[in-house]
Parts: sequence; C-alpha cells; structure tokens
Amino acid sequence: MIDRQPIDTYARQISDEKQTSVITGSTASTDKRFNALFTDYADPDSLRKLAAKIKDHTLHHLDTYLEQAEASLQRNGVTVHFADSGDDARETVLNILRGHEVTQLTKSKSMASEEIHLNPYLIENGIEVLESDLGEFIIQLDGDEPSHIVRPIIHKNRREIARTFQREGIAEDYNDDPGTITRRARVHLREKYMLAQAVITGGNFISAESGRLVLVTNEGNTRFGMAPSKVHIALVGIEKLVPTDRDLGVFLNLLGRSATGQQLTVYTEFISGPKDDSQPSGPEHMHVVFMNHGRTDVLDSNCREILRCIRCSACQNVCPVYRQASGHAYRSPYGGPIGAVLSPLLFGDRFPELADLPKASSLCGACNEVCPVDIPIPDLLLRLRDKAKRAHIPQPGDLPMTPFATLATSPSLWRTAMTMSKAMNHLPIQVAPVRPLQDWLGQRTLPDWHGGDFRKWLKARKEK
Ligand code: SF4
Repeated sequence: MIDRQPIDTYARQISDEKQTSVITGSTASTDKRFNALFTDYADPDSLRKLAAKIKDHTLHHLDTYLEQAEASLQRNGVTVHFADSGDDARETVLNILRGHEVTQLTKSKSMASEEIHLNPYLIENGIEVLESDLGEFIIQLDGDEPSHIVRPIIHKNRREIARTFQREGIAEDYNDDPGTITRRARVHLREKYMLAQAVITGGNFISAESGRLVLVTNEGNTRFGMAPSKVHIALVGIEKLVPTDRDLGVFLNLLGRSATGQQLTVYTEFISGPKDDSQPSGPEHMHVVFMNHGRTDVLDSNCREILRCIRCSACQNVCPVYRQASGHAYRSPYGGPIGAVLSPLLFGDRFPELADLPKASSLCGACNEVCPVDIPIPDLLLRLRDKAKRAHIPQPGDLPMTPFATLATSPSLWRTAMTMSKAMNHLPIQVAPVRPLQDWLGQRTLPDWHGGDFRKWLKARKEK
C-alpha cells in the first residue's frame, strides 16, 4: 500500500489545485449519471435491485459458477488459471509471458492489477510494460498513482499533463489543449502498440454460461492492443462472474450510466476466445487468470455485499469526503466509499492501519443511493468500525469520543461538566490536556456555548 499519512492528515494538506480538479471531475460525473439514469428509466431503482439480486445469487453459488466458467472458457480455447494470493497471480502472469517469450506488452486499465502492483513486478523481471489507457499512461509517465477507478488522473488538470508531455519528450512544445494532448498521445502510443507481443487486460464481466469475457473502454485501447498481440492475458477477480449472457444486459446498462453517464460505454467487447483461422488478426493464445486475493475471506465475512461491486465509481463521485480528500488519501488503489470498505477487508491483515478508512465517512448515505448494485455501504462501514473497535485498533476520533462517552453516560459527571462548560469559550486550544486532543480541536470550530440551562428549566417546570 501507499505509505501516506492517515486520511484526515492527508486531506488537510492537499493543494487547492488538486482539490479543485477532484471536485470538478466528480461533480460533473455525478450530474451526468443522474441525467442518464433518470432520462432513460422510469424506475432505475428496480433495475439496480435486480442487479443486486443477480450478484448475490452468483456470490452464493460462486463455486458452481467458477467451475462452469472454467469449462466454458476451456471449450472456447482459453487456458484458465486460478491464483489464490497476489503473489500467485503475479507469478502466474510472469510464467505465461515467459512461456510465450514475451518481452514487450501493452496493458489496459485493471484494478485487479493495481491491487497486486503488477507493473513494477513485471518491469523488475525484464518485461517492458506500456499502459495503453491515456490516464494510466500519464500516471506511468509521472510515476504517480491512480486516484479514481474510472478516471485515474481526476486529480490532475490539463496544464499538468501538458507539462508532463513536454518533460517526457512526447511533445516538443507545451500545449494544454485537450484535443492536442490526446492526438499527441495517440501518435506516441500507436507505434508502441504495433511492437507489443502481448496484451494484459482486466475483465469487467465473464459469463459463466458462454465463457464470454466482457471488456469496456472509452478509448478502444484494449481492442487496438489486441490486434497486433499474439497473447492475451485477462486478470480477473473471481467475483466478476455473471451466470448468463442475458444478465450482461442488466450490468452493461447500469455500468455505462453509473460510471460516465453514457447509455453504453463506447467500446464494449465480447471476447469468446483466441482468434480463429478466419480472423486476420488478434491473439492466438488467450489466458484467463482468476484471482482470489482475499475475496473468499470477504465472502465469509459480514461485509460480503461489497463483492457485488462493478467498479463504476459512482460512490466516489458523490462522496463529500472523497471530493475533499482525493483518492490518494485512501492509500490503496480503491478510494472513496468503495475503498473505505474494500481496502481494510482485502489488505487489512497486512496493513492494519487501514482500519481508519471506515471512519472517513459522514454516513450520509449518498454512496448507497447511487450504487448500481445497491451495496449498503454505510452499514458496511459501521460493521467495519465495530470490528476495528473490538480488535482495539486505534481510529481517528477515539480520543475525544471515548471520554465524551464516559461523560455523557454519567449524570453526575455530566452535571459537573455543564457547570464548567461556559469556560470552553475562553480557553485557548493549547490547554487541552494532550497533543492529539489539541490537534483534533485545532481542526474544528466549536460553536459558542449557549447551553447548560435545560436542567434548571426542567426542575422549575416540575416544581410548578
Ligand atoms: S460500490 Fe457501488 S457505486 Fe461504488 S464503485 Fe462499486 S458498484 Fe460503483
């Protein structure tokens, strides 16, 4: 995971420029989503309830559907691998590449590969990896980390990108016109695509019934990457299955609208195996690597609903905490509400400090309202807070809240505190007894004290 300060500390320090980029990008996406869903469907809620049901059913029978998907994929000529841990997944991918003598590849955006830090691993092992998604390509040039599931560079503006292109020699001069930036990237990437021997993708869905792998992009980069490559490796989380092809209609309608406000993502590919003799180009070998990486533990937990997630990013876009803090504040590939739940579950054993993430929420419920698979994110956050509390893992806000709980549950202590409370208006923050409490108070503007008279009023009323 990324070594950064706790979320509240990081959020206080981000630059105005970065915060503006995140707020502008996420607000625009939320508005588009709303228009796309509510214009086309009289009752979008019933569609997401249906999607939730399909996902729950699939997760409940995951063992059966995995076996069925394996058989369907094999029937289509695909080699299927199962990787239990992140290390297993990385080694499996490397072994496949070595088996096909691949030294150069393109890779499309894949959250599964971000989870296991696949790029640095492959590069360390002598494979040249080029990110083909424009946002991920810029991240790669900058040595940065993605901060959003769908728009990995939501935290950057076009001026920063133009400077990157000039610095890296992608362009000779500075030009921050978005059309020019895109054209320049296309010219640069096209040449590299043609040299690639393999392509690595994720997988948005796999139909267990037919073994069809579904990939969606708005840039056509997976399609383009596949044309010259001889080998295609899809790294797919085991929860990405749907039972039948018919179910794909439900999810594709929800994914495009929830992610980018489009009726359908521009390039929606249904891949049914390696190329056959009638096809002029495309991979001759196709491998699907099903990755567990903690998902079966999540399935066993009381937060299994999070595995319904289709990585649309709607919850990130609408979250007031994400908008203020940015995705980087969450210190894992998943920022926003999805990250606040999924990251402690997937990575918490190795990084217990991520237990602070479920506190990064006002529990306003907006994330659940927009989620296309109706994940009860606020409930899951509360379950995780409870789990951290029971495990005695320190969380932000513990210091003021624990003594407050003692105070608020003892009538005599409360009465004494009330008589002294007026003094709070006049005390400098520095007199707070311990440093963390000073810090906590330093980030807040306490309202002037106006209370303390209720008991007197009630007593007088009773005596009347
Ligand atoms: S939790 Fe729901 S809203 Fe958030 S990314 Fe996943 S599917 Fe989308």
